[in-house]
Amino acid sequence: ARLGGPYQVQFFSSDENLRLRERMRLESDLRRALADESFYLAFQPQLDARTRKVVGAETLLRWTHPERGPVSPAVFIPVAESSGLMEELGHWVFKTACRQAAQWHHNGTDVSVSINVSSQQFNSGNFIASIRECLAETGVNPARVMVELTESIAVSNVDSNIRILHELKSLGLELSVDDFGTGYSSLRYIKDFPLDEIKIDKAFIDGLPAQKGDVAIVSAILMMARRLGMKVVAEGVENVDQYEYLVQQDCDEIQGYFFSRPLSAEDFEAFCNQCSSR
Ligand code: C2E
Ligand code: CA
Ligand code: CA
Ligand code: CA
Repeated sequence: ARLGGPYQVQFFSSDENLRLRERMRLESDLRRALADESFYLAFQPQLDARTRKVVGAETLLRWTHPERGPVSPAVFIPVAESSGLMEELGHWVFKTACRQAAQWHHNGTDVSVSINVSSQQFNSGNFIASIRECLAETGVNPARVMVELTESIAVSNVDSNIRILHELKSLGLELSVDDFGTGYSSLRYIKDFPLDEIKIDKAFIDGLPAQKGDVAIVSAILMMARRLGMKVVAEGVENVDQYEYLVQQDCDEIQGYFFSRPLSAEDFEAFCNQCSSR
């Protein structure tokens, strides 16, 4: 088939056609879900490696599709991004997570809440205003809110990105870099950006403590972070061998199925209480 021209869609194979229709359906379902507020948040505990007390929660977005059941954020977030819905959805996530954090702090559950921010949200031009509004509306202590950025945010417009990061810092927020080591700009990122925390990607945790390559990378990241005065969170920790290795290496915080899967707000509180009475 000849490509180009206004009839391009016709030349897609039936497979591609199906995928395209599927995507469009998902997109319109997402629009409806935004209007109906049928998203909710899950919270995965982050534990102090040494004391094993819960010190934080990562906020993870959840969506139960009316017919299909739960859809993974790894599937629907890219669709929300490319259809221009992520700014609004991201605002909802940030506000709802701040509200939850404020409520926990009020009840004596003193955790820091981490919130994922997508590059579309970050680069929208409206990001700082949106964050200000969430902080003002919920009254949350910004020092207990951590913004999780991915390396994909940094590749272009480095100067204007650094300005935005400094504005976030001046609002009192903490900054974390997610999936560290998987992007293209890791070292530039930690050199030039005002970060408080690095999250080591699960890909490097998986091979601990047996695989030499992972051991070398993880210990190098830990050393660099210490020199730069940043905290390190290991994500995707699934077993006791990984956990013990990370404690021995002086990693600060642990997140992963070894301690807990993402939980509802209610179950998260129960988990915190159980941990602090151990
Ligand atoms: P992420 O930010 O790297 O989040 C960690 C993911 O790893 C979560 O998947 C979590 O459930 C999973 N995980 C945690 N511990 C373990 C473990 O021990 N083993 C394994 N196999 N997995 C573990 P989830 O919730 O499916 O989220 C997938 C991705 O979707 C996130 O990756 C993040 O990139 C994105 N995402 C989720 N919520 C949001 C959000 O509110 N905003 C944005 N922009 N992205 C989000
Ligand atoms: Ca944290
Ligand atoms: Ca994250
Ligand atoms: Ca991650």
